[in-house]
Amino acid sequence: MQKEKLLMIPGPSPVHPRIINSLSLPTVSHVSPVLVEELKEALANLKKIVFCEKGEPFIVAGAGTLAMEMAILNTVGKEESFLVLSQGFFGERMDQIARSFGLDCDIIECEWGKAVLPEELEQKLSEKEYAAVTATHVDTCTGACAPVKDYAEVLKKHDVLYIIDGVCATGGIEERIDDWEVDVVLTAAQKCFGAPPGLSILVLSEKAVDKRRSMEKIPAYYSDVLRWLPIMKDPSKYFSTPCVNEIRAFYESTRIILEEGIERRFLRHERVAKAIRAALVELGFSLFTQEPFLADTLSVVKYPEGVEDKSFRSTYYENGIVVAGGLGETAGKVFRMGHMGNLSISQVYFALNALERTLSTLGYKFEAGSGLKAAKVILGE
Ligand SMILES: *Cc1c(COP(=O)(O)O)cnc(C)c1O
Repeated sequence: MQKEKLLMIPGPSPVHPRIINSLSLPTVSHVSPVLVEELKEALANLKKIVFCEKGEPFIVAGAGTLAMEMAILNTVGKEESFLVLSQGFFGERMDQIARSFGLDCDIIECEWGKAVLPEELEQKLSEKEYAAVTATHVDTCTGACAPVKDYAEVLKKHDVLYIIDGVCATGGIEERIDDWEVDVVLTAAQKCFGAPPGLSILVLSEKAVDKRRSMEKIPAYYSDVLRWLPIMKDPSKYFSTPCVNEIRAFYESTRIILEEGIERRFLRHERVAKAIRAALVELGFSLFTQEPFLADTLSVVKYPEGVEDKSFRSTYYENGIVVAGGLGETAGKVFRMGHMGNLSISQVYFALNALERTLSTLGYKFEAGSGLKAAKVILGE
């Protein structure tokens, strides 16, 4: 058997043994009391994680992209428009989803490594009426984190639904549905929840559900939240067979989050991100993402002179760590390192050790142990 590698890609993130073990629980009937109870609790926990009291949570077989599609189709009608705030790859995907369904959509883009500013949003809202605005919290391609709370302040002044693509953030970076008046947070199981891929996850505000109710017909069947709502309220009902084992694993992942404490989890993400970056910079790497937009969940890192992308990533892999290459214009120039979900501090040290070993193998000159030392200053362990 191949030795297991530590996944430090921008998702899936490392799956905690407790979650892996829960995957081996029996495949019970989807309407059995066991599953009904676990799904109910998973839904309740999910609401706690996004600080939502009154909204409606949804857990549906799929992935982040299906959750994006569901968010749009259930809130934007044929005669309406929505606005995408895009800082990279996944904002563009929102735009493509709109096109696929013939929905009218405008997009504000920005230079890669930055995010759209709240003033630009304000300006656009004064020019045209939108049914919804979508923002990517963290773009997995550029490592840029959007000022989603500042957007919320702008949007509170307008009658428009606020949709956050939290696929690379929810459960790792703060998102508050009630306080910020967010209408949809969408995500997937495999990023900051640290569960295996396979679930589309959404929490809708009451306002968003009302909006869906006000639309007579939408171009969706499986993705129609009104078909799922009765199941989420009472999981002993049937609409379409849920992925029983994946739900049991996701339930375990929400328990781990609440045991750690949501606020503490956010803080851990922040500290780990700072420590990893301090080590990388100490070793001569630099960050692709602009300083004010650095995300706590992943880093997009530029190589120093003399370190070549392919040999770096393959040697790092041999040393136990999987990182991802750059996409589009950044291909060959950067690597992307995820540090989200249930990544432990000892795994961070393991990864930094492996990084120094990798650089030595590649013949790169640096002071041995200096990266680790820089990380230790921040982690204090
Ligand atoms: C990963 C990701 C997605 C897509 O999720 P899939 O599960 O791969 O469909 C969407 N948005 C963001 C911000 C992501 O990071």
